[in-house]
Amino acid sequence: MSLDGTYDDGNIFAKILRGEMPCARVFEDDHVLAFMDVFPQARGHTLVIPKHSQARNFLDEEPQVLSELILGVQRVAKAVRAALSPDGVVITQFNGATAGQTVFHLHFHIIPRWDGVAVGRHASGGMADMDELKTLAQQIAAKIA
Ligand code: 5GP
Repeated sequence: MSLDGTYDDGNIFAKILRGEMPCARVFEDDHVLAFMDVFPQARGHTLVIPKHSQARNFLDEEPQVLSELILGVQRVAKAVRAALSPDGVVITQFNGATAGQTVFHLHFHIIPRWDGVAVGRHASGGMADMDELKTLAQQIAAKIA
């Protein structure tokens, strides 16, 4: 899917938002939902998505939604840091399939990094154990300020 196109509400994150698919939920407020990536590139890999949005990517999004989203990303990233004590944190997002995007509902990745630990492949590693993801989600949720 290119940068151009219409929002498909059958995408997996839209299903998670509607409660049609499970997720290991970290945090939710009026604006954003944060949950664990099921194919994590590192332990604690967390996704943050806008709840009220039909933007496929960053370029499509309304400024007000983006404002709330980025504040949510920072809040969750601080909690990831507090919970897991990484040496670094990657915050990233992809726009268009050519850029690596695989789910077409705007989202940010929060990927903790530790010295000497290689990062996993994007969206193509092994599926994580759901119980482990739920434990991580609880640890991060406990640090949300
Ligand atoms: P993108 O490639 O669009 O930037 O990122 C999509 C992310 O969603 C990938 O990191 C991928 O591992 C993750 N993902 C794909 N399917 C699911 C799912 O069903 N549940 C969760 N929690 N994450 C998913």
